[in-house]
Amino acid sequence: MLPITPFLTAYLTFVALVLGSFINLAADRLPRGESILWPRSHCRACGRQLNAVDLLPVLGYAVRRGRCATCHSEIGLSAPIIEGVAGLGMAAPVIWLGPWPGALAGLCLVAALGLAVTSLAARRYAADERAG
Ligand SMILES: [Zn+2]
Repeated sequence: MLPITPFLTAYLTFVALVLGSFINLAADRLPRGESILWPRSHCRACGRQLNAVDLLPVLGYAVRRGRCATCHSEIGLSAPIIEGVAGLGMAAPVIWLGPWPGALAGLCLVAALGLAVTSLAARRYAADERAG
């Protein structure tokens, strides 16, 4: 029998990292009433469209040393942290419970993370709006 579990764990973790990246995008855009589909991901400071390296979860942040490659404005540390937490939120239950029950539990954890992060971002945005 093929040892498929390590590959499946790595794949599911990668999917969760990408979902973590999407959570960052949703938390940034939804409170402002912007679309989560369009325009493509870009630097909020200079407008440069992000490329494959920028979009790599966690690694993109490390490669760019936390700054935009064009205008060097800072990318918040929360971005790779949320991506990492999403990855761990999938990897831990998959390793603990096995691939399929673990993937289901991991999806629930990542969805809960998405709701929590997006809600907190919306509250913060509303508070900033009130403060002016
Ligand atoms: Zn920029």
